[in-house]
Amino acid sequence: VAIHGSTGGVNLHRFFVAAGSLQADRVSFSSAQAHQIRNVLRLRPGDRVVVLDGTGAELLVRLDTLHDGSAGTVEERSHNQAEPQVNVVLYQGLLKAAKFELVLQKCTEIGVSSFVPIITGRSVPSEPSPGRQRRFETVVREAAEQSRRGCLPEVSAAVPYGKALAEAASAGGVAVLWEDERTVRLRDISLAVPGAQVGLFVGPEGGLTPQEVALARDTGASVVSLGKRILRAETAAIVGSALLLAQSGALG
Ligand code: SAM
Repeated sequence: VAIHGSTGGVNLHRFFVAAGSLQADRVSFSSAQAHQIRNVLRLRPGDRVVVLDGTGAELLVRLDTLHDGSAGTVEERSHNQAEPQVNVVLYQGLLKAAKFELVLQKCTEIGVSSFVPIITGRSVPSEPSPGRQRRFETVVREAAEQSRRGCLPEVSAAVPYGKALAEAASAGGVAVLWEDERTVRLRDISLAVPGAQVGLFVGPEGGLTPQEVALARDTGASVVSLGKRILRAETAAIVGSALLLAQSGALG
């Protein structure tokens, strides 16, 4: 493994660890990470990895112990530079697991801050089981490690649409994607200002109902179009997130 003297080193493997895994300058890895370090990556004592605490700290860590779990010592501390200045929260109508995993993976790479599955009138899939939820978190963690994120996006439990709208509106700006909107386009509004939070709402495969769109307007959300073609829900989520993050300067 090439050492570049900083956590920006291109070849160092990156691991998000839980808060309790960091004690002063010592880092211990989960059993799954220990397995990956020893048996998959075949790293050796003395090799370096980058450890992320999930809140933006990046630690260059020298591996010490590889038997009985894996542990290492912090050699350098820095702050991750890759996090967007704007927090885009993606509220996504429930999708089949494979499609939702695609959304989680791509939107984590793009820079979305957190994910909230929403239960809408036309939602078909049921709420994720605990096992599925853990799988979603793994997809996000792997995408965050691969794309050099400093923060680990959260995937919350599913929330009813109305409650989600109210929460998003009290936290910041809200954009609701609606394929029948003819006047306002996402690229024409400027919600993504640095330091702010933007909630981006995307319907399920069957779309949002007229009542749900009306409720969005009532709560002060911007109801916006992505153009004249109908995109699949997962495409709309990726394109909408990319446009918001590009507006804020964090992408492109
Ligand atoms: N109900 C629609 C139909 O069956 O014709 C399509 C819904 S679309 C597959 C799923 C979601 O993607 C929508 O609820 C909306 O949030 C978003 N979406 C897709 N295309 C869009 C567009 N051109 N503008 C805005 N939102 C779009």
